[in-house]
Amino acid sequence: MSASDDKKQSQVSSANGSEMRLSGRSVSRGVAIGRVVNLHGNKRQFYKINLEDLQINREIRRFCDSIRLAKRQLKKIRRIKNEKAPEIQAGIFDAHLLILEDKSFLEKIETVIKEQKVNAEWAVKSVTESYVAKYKTIADEYLRERYIDLEDVAERILTALGGGGKTTIRLKKDSIIVAKEVKPSTLIELIESSPKAIISENGGWTSHTFILAREMNLPAVTGSAGILRHAQTGDEVIVDGYNGQVILHPEAETVRRYKLAAMQFQQINYNTVKAAKGAVKTLDGREIVIRSNLDLPDGYRLAKRFGAQGIGLYRSEFLFNQFKGFPTEHEQTKVYREIAEAVGKEGVKIRTFDLSAEQFTNGTEKKEKNPALGMRAIRLSLTYKKQFRAQLRSILQASYENKIDIVLPMISDVSEIMQTKKILETEKANLKEKGINFGNPCVGAMIEVPAAVLTIDEIASEVDFLCLGTNDLVQYLLAVDRDNETVSQWFQTLHPAVLRAIKKVLEAAENRGIPAVVCGEMAGSPFYVPILIGFGAKELSMNANSILRVRRVITGIAFEEAYELVKKIESCRTFGEIETLVNKNIREKWAHLFPAGL
Ligand code: PEP
Ligand code: MG
Repeated sequence: MSASDDKKQSQVSSANGSEMRLSGRSVSRGVAIGRVVNLHGNKRQFYKINLEDLQINREIRRFCDSIRLAKRQLKKIRRIKNEKAPEIQAGIFDAHLLILEDKSFLEKIETVIKEQKVNAEWAVKSVTESYVAKYKTIADEYLRERYIDLEDVAERILTALGGGGKTTIRLKKDSIIVAKEVKPSTLIELIESSPKAIISENGGWTSHTFILAREMNLPAVTGSAGILRHAQTGDEVIVDGYNGQVILHPEAETVRRYKLAAMQFQQINYNTVKAAKGAVKTLDGREIVIRSNLDLPDGYRLAKRFGAQGIGLYRSEFLFNQFKGFPTEHEQTKVYREIAEAVGKEGVKIRTFDLSAEQFTNGTEKKEKNPALGMRAIRLSLTYKKQFRAQLRSILQASYENKIDIVLPMISDVSEIMQTKKILETEKANLKEKGINFGNPCVGAMIEVPAAVLTIDEIASEVDFLCLGTNDLVQYLLAVDRDNETVSQWFQTLHPAVLRAIKKVLEAAENRGIPAVVCGEMAGSPFYVPILIGFGAKELSMNANSILRVRRVITGIAFEEAYELVKKIESCRTFGEIETLVNKNIREKWAHLFPAGL
């Protein structure tokens, strides 16, 4: 990934035959050849699958299970809401229950599954759409507006289809996901189907979907405007995640050329595994600790083989996808313990749930207008204390005889750390009283909000370590949505404000004598690593698939050279000046470390 990728515009060009090339932005390296599977839906994403005769009865059963689950959920919510809400809310939930009991609606969906031989999600979508279209033609305004309830119920059924147990349907082996935007939860649901690549119209380099794609070694191209107009499920497609290219309906000669690259890409994963071990040092002997970021609990194995020294950031919120909702204290303890045992003495830093209110309450909480600035992460934890206490208790129990640290996300004020530490002490006392063993985890803070940078000395005095989350730091410092592809040119990692913030945080950690782990995507990008090292970073945490490339860069540069570069950077006034300077430096000094496509 290089900064120049930030500027690529999407364009569509048709070659002589039917082959069509679309330029986008590479967000995960690699090459794949396969068949398009269009992903539909916004809030909940799903795909159309053509079923074999044998699968139809099972699909109907899955649909019926989802209706039962949706009803149970609705009744539960109705009870909770009724305690404090006015009658009108109960009325809405009653209306939704009636829809779930409407025989003709349900039978129509079953008929579509049977006759069109499609998956339940698709049938729910198409029947709901036909109902909604009819509602919208009704003259009476009150009745016309009922289509919203229907859409709401359909959404609930679709959620239940995803959450009522594992989806039994698999995508075909060579599937390439094509969507306007792919949600991280959708990608996690699809893991077992092993899709080959992702093409999306939207989503930035640091969006969680592409962070996951890189972790899963799945080539991905974003910013492919127009792809949904041109690509139909089943179409042949090539994804070139080195050059940000998508080739639809490729000609035989193009396929032949890319086949070799695709095969080599598949092999790289295995052939290079044995390449690394032990500490990494720059040419002049500065030791840099490389840790791994982890999103999926069993992902450390590969990182370890690449020489990772523990986990610098475990995003525990991804458990919500695994457990289809809030994991219990027992489930969490088990997962945390398993991860810590797999990692060993080098330890794991578990980040407490970094979720939005909508994710946390499984869609029952009202959607926020601006979730990135809303009730999320530490704010949510300190509001829903019961669940926060459960998570802290799980970590405490798992840390007995295991090296586990706690990281608090989205800290904007030192008081949030102080409150958490108090809760932690209470929970330790509770466990002690019950005779349950627990450990003594260190506590650290994610530094990703400008307010935290400006009060870094206060924060550093209250924690055992810092984690520098550059993804959100760029987003919040520059006021640019990290998930929004249309503003990606303003997501400037090399902006002077970002680099000054990084320097300030690393210096504060050094002065206080505590470690600082850089764990945003910047740390896994060979292009940015020399700059981080020049600013004094000694610990980098990244996805497993970046480790070898980063190791290669670290062992090929001298700290003194990196330091000289950041001194020059500090005299630059704009992002453009810094980018030019870094590119020039790389061309002149480190060209051997940055072959095309790195
Ligand atoms: C970050 O913000 O840089 C970070 C590491 O966390 P996440 O990407 O999960 O927000
Ligand atoms: Mg973050």
